[in-house]
Amino acid sequence: MSGIPLHGPGPDGPASAAGDEAACPRCGGTGFVIVVREGLEAARPCDCRRSRQDELRRRLASIPRRYRHCTLEGFFSRNPSHERALALARRVVQEFPGGRYGLLFTGPCGVGKTHLAAAVLRELVETRGARGLFTEFGRLLRRLQDTYDRGSETPSREVIDPVLLADVLVLDDLGATRTTPWVIETLGLILGERYDQDRLTLITTNLPLEAPPGEETLADRIGDRLASRLVEMCWVVPMEGEDFRRRVKSAAYRT
Ligand SMILES: [Zn+2]
Repeated sequence: MSGIPLHGPGPDGPASAAGDEAACPRCGGTGFVIVVREGLEAARPCDCRRSRQDELRRRLASIPRRYRHCTLEGFFSRNPSHERALALARRVVQEFPGGRYGLLFTGPCGVGKTHLAAAVLRELVETRGARGLFTEFGRLLRRLQDTYDRGSETPSREVIDPVLLADVLVLDDLGATRTTPWVIETLGLILGERYDQDRLTLITTNLPLEAPPGEETLADRIGDRLASRLVEMCWVVPMEGEDFRRRVKSAAYRT
């Protein structure tokens, strides 16, 4: 799960693996140091290799600058729905890589959904050696669309592979874009592959799973089949604003 080789550039653009830092004083940048054991010289990996791999994984995770500071400790809980969200986020980190469920954060703008998703991603990348990837769903679609527009029949492997293969994927703002059959098909491909391979997926969306008649739900936007798939893959984590009046409807979900 950890270590090299790592996947290619993330969907938000290539990350430069080459450091701009000066060569390591211990190994001169070769990544190996010579040690003498029982009179014999042997090469041993230098400690700087480890930190270079950590740094590479951090860059490939492509967490946007705005969310790069986000941690679980730094999440300010303002109501019971936040408490539950934080507890589930911690649980997913603790159980990694053995946990069965990802997280599906729902709720209005500004309640901290993306903060928590980014914080879980960051923690897994930085402390568990996970290959992680943050991607805003609309932007991912545009990048995929660009590669189709260049005349190819299948999505660019360079764009789609990191999304399919990451140990932990954040799909931010799902359902914000207009859905076409192609969008549904693409989302189905991503979720299906990740579900089959038991890979952790963290999703944020402004759309609720349940709503009074006349209000749009996630299933209205992405279809019943994919909405059900998400519920199979994830803990459903409704997050309310500060002045929420409705009780957290957790009874219908896993608690
Ligand atoms: Zn070194």
